[in-house]
Amino acid sequence: MVKAKVKETLLQAIQGDITREKADAIVNAANLSLMGGGGVDGAIHHAGGPAIVEECRTIVSEQGRLPAGQAVITTGGKLPAKHVIHTVGPVWRGGNGGEEVTLASCYTECLKLASANRIKSISFPAISTGVYGYPLEPAARIAIGSVIKYLNANSTSIEQVRFVLYDTNAYNIYAAEFAKISGV
Ligand code: ADP
Repeated sequence: MVKAKVKETLLQAIQGDITREKADAIVNAANLSLMGGGGVDGAIHHAGGPAIVEECRTIVSEQGRLPAGQAVITTGGKLPAKHVIHTVGPVWRGGNGGEEVTLASCYTECLKLASANRIKSISFPAISTGVYGYPLEPAARIAIGSVIKYLNANSTSIEQVRFVLYDTNAYNIYAAEFAKISGV
């Protein structure tokens, strides 16, 4: 585990399975339909049970498909986490299609929604770095940078932000990024 602190909020990166996090909220790297899919999305719906997809269906019927860079909140169902915040990351298309702005927006919108719901602890996966193909190094820089920027600019209920990386390679890349920001 690597750690850093931004104002009163503890930042951590760990290697693990996000479906096992006992946080107030975990973030799902969802797709536009919010109906579940593969990767972390599939794992979250599988572990959380049908209550999550039911709420997602209601949200989509009320507000339509979720555009990339935005976020919505549901129950955590049977997960140890109380809530799931679903966000849709950008599909990597070489980097000139606004991917960076959209990815940063995912992190910022999740933190806004978490704060609005008085959430104290939130865990993020490495959004867009699986099927959506975003290269891990820039994705880690944007993830950590956006969170730090948000926390510095806003007063918030969030006491802990954790990045949960599924494999060793992703964890090592986040740890290297944390080394650059230690002391913030
Ligand atoms: P996207 O479509 O946004 O790329 P993916 O689910 O394909 O989403 O991948 C996002 C990241 O989540 C990848 O780095 C993948 O290794 C990771 N991942 C997959 N399963 C889990 C899990 N159970 N916990 C945490 N991270 C996971």
